[in-house]
Amino acid sequence: HLTGKTALVTGSTSGIGLGIAKALAGAGANIVLNGFGDAGEIEAIRAALASENGVEARYFGADMTKPDEIAAMVGGVEKEFGAIDVLVNNAGVQHVAPIDEFPIDKWNLIIALNLSAAFHAIRVALPAMRKKGWGRIISTASAHALVASPYKVAYVAAKHGIAGITKTVALEVAQQGITVNAICPGYVWTPLVEKQIPDTAKARGISEEEVKKNVLLAAQPTKEFVTVEEVAGLALFLTTDAAKNITGALQSIDGGWTAE
Ligand code: NAD
Repeated sequence: HLTGKTALVTGSTSGIGLGIAKALAGAGANIVLNGFGDAGEIEAIRAALASENGVEARYFGADMTKPDEIAAMVGGVEKEFGAIDVLVNNAGVQHVAPIDEFPIDKWNLIIALNLSAAFHAIRVALPAMRKKGWGRIISTASAHALVASPYKVAYVAAKHGIAGITKTVALEVAQQGITVNAICPGYVWTPLVEKQIPDTAKARGISEEEVKKNVLLAAQPTKEFVTVEEVAGLALFLTTDAAKNITGALQSIDGGWTAE
């Protein structure tokens, strides 16, 4: 259903963003990848997305903490494809520390990347989207857009901020064929999470299975990770016509975390 449309997914060289890019390409969208990583690996991902799905795929290495690089990327995509039809604000990082020890540079980074980048990307991508009278803006927020955990002050503040951007912009474009939503995953099985498990098991003298259930998934009633494919499936659904009345919503996919 996305044939002829173009999707920009920020932070799509890995994890959830890559999963969303694959799902959107599978539905026929041209894909613009963004994010950091090894140039050869990124080119392999780009080439595979294009050839396996019969779509155009491009890569823009914009640093999403830099408003001028975001504007240049959006301008570049519009020059080639006309407009961004599906904008996925996904790039993000985490830092864990008590507030009185929280490094100021980490606060600034997380607010810039996990919050302000969405403002800057939406701000510049919206006019062309509006001209076409159709658009989907999706942000990867988190269960931490709805509830807090200690020692994650910047992340929780940024993700709650994404909830505010989502609701505000949804109201501004409600009659223009554009929906604006946030996805709120619990713990998602990404390479980043997976790599921590053997070391945590060793450090605590417990099995890898116990690390998953009792350490990482302490907050998640299902005691199961959400998968990248499940998050991507939800993002894909939000781009369909069936979802055209879902807007300004914070869609949980968290194994029951925020029900408690
Ligand atoms: P990841 O580390 O696998 O992916 C992060 C992506 O962001 C990578 O492509 C990375 O290159 C990119 N990135 C980092 N800094 C950047 C910058 N300055 N400019 C552009 N790109 C940059 O992590 P993930 O788990 O896939 O996380 C993706 C999003 O999902 C984040 O916003 C995260 O907060 C959110 N999220 C993750 C989980 C989880 O459990 N993994 C849960 C809820 C929400």
